[in-house]
Amino acid sequence: MVGVEKDTRQMAEDPSEDTVNIMDLVPVTGTGFGGRRRTIEFMRRNIPLAHSLMTSSRNQQMARNEPFSASLHNKQTRNEIAKSQVGKSTLDNGTHLFLSNAMSRGLSSSLKLLLVTTAFSRTTCLALVVQRKRFGTATMSATNDADTEQHDNTSSSSRSARLRFVDIGANLLEDRFTAGIYRGTPRHEPDFDLIIDRATQQGVCRIVLTAGTVAESREAVAKAREWNQQYPAIKFTCTVGVHPTRCRQEFVDSEHSADDLLQELLDIATDGMTDGTVAAVGEIGLDYDRLEFCPADIQKEYLVKQLQVLAKTTGLPLFLHNRSVGTDLLEILSANRDCWNAGGVVHSFDDTLELAMQFIDDLYLYIGLNGCSLRTDESLAVVKELPLDKILLETDCPYCEVRKTHPGYQYIQTHFEAKAEKKFERGLTVKSRIEPCHIVQVAEVIAGCKGLLLKEVADACFDNTFRLYQSWTKEK
Ligand SMILES: [Zn+2]
Repeated sequence: MVGVEKDTRQMAEDPSEDTVNIMDLVPVTGTGFGGRRRTIEFMRRNIPLAHSLMTSSRNQQMARNEPFSASLHNKQTRNEIAKSQVGKSTLDNGTHLFLSNAMSRGLSSSLKLLLVTTAFSRTTCLALVVQRKRFGTATMSATNDADTEQHDNTSSSSRSARLRFVDIGANLLEDRFTAGIYRGTPRHEPDFDLIIDRATQQGVCRIVLTAGTVAESREAVAKAREWNQQYPAIKFTCTVGVHPTRCRQEFVDSEHSADDLLQELLDIATDGMTDGTVAAVGEIGLDYDRLEFCPADIQKEYLVKQLQVLAKTTGLPLFLHNRSVGTDLLEILSANRDCWNAGGVVHSFDDTLELAMQFIDDLYLYIGLNGCSLRTDESLAVVKELPLDKILLETDCPYCEVRKTHPGYQYIQTHFEAKAEKKFERGLTVKSRIEPCHIVQVAEVIAGCKGLLLKEVADACFDNTFRLYQSWTKEK
């Protein structure tokens, strides 16, 4: 940790003006703050001003995760802070005050300075936006746990107003979303309207419903159309196709012939394309983790058939599932390159960087990331290296939670109060039932491990999605 002493020395060398007006107090205390690095990350991602200052050329070093230099701009400011409540409570606890020395120098008078205090003895931090004017009458008040919540909400809602997300993979047809039924047991009243509200509040403006069987494909088209009428804030589209683990159930064990079923899928897709409801062929692919549901040879056979019949005829992008299959999916897609020409996304990616780069470089595919892509240090290392312009965001809800035990959890800034399904409370999320609103957490983890702003990640992924789904317009 950079000490105050060192920066006091720097200040002595810095003859810049000694008057600072505290114009605005922006507490960013959050229960999740544990250290300076995370505080800095939070600020970088949530306070545009801090970002704009940090990314000015002279502060590039700081923007690259260098710790803020701990300094106070002048003695008067330092004394005022020391005298204030915050100063007392935090300094007495061994708080270090961080005022970025770099940010306090060479700035035009219109630029604001950022002053941060962090306490390492308890999880408190405070950001003050100050302006380079005469030190005024501004007072500072200590933040406490009671107003933490409020500030977090403010910060969250003002931020989400700027962010836009497309959840490219949501299993919203599941009973737990539409009926409050979990594994066959009714647990609570339906809260789909609130799920949509929460998603909207986080900036989700499009959701692609994932279908994995023939019946689901049909239902997804119907539900997307229905929900588009009912919830105009979000544009719903869907996939049509059979999931690799369900190929035996759908194509082999069925009373209908595989050809008839493929034709039925094609009919559903063709119908759904008339009004843009069907966005992709999927989810199709390979999954060797769950061979008990469907052997690999059947998976491969019907992957190829869906490429040949569905993808080739419709010209839709692919929504691909790739789980523990080595390079098999890559090879089948390469061998059938003539069947698909609208690109695609390998969703829920959790494999090696090498494989990801082969999908990207050889097949021009995008990589879809959700909580399942962020479970280990190894996966975070992959995400860190993935080119930002090839990443799409998804939740794969209700699955793929970013859990407290996951290494990426440390980067999450947006938390949703949750109750167990049995103790459901209307208006709160349900424990371990991920929803489209949680997409912001996926973006936060990606931003955290890449050292980028949340907005940079959200915007880039948003644009990437529209590059893949070219027929979409951004209004919706
Ligand atoms: Zn999948």
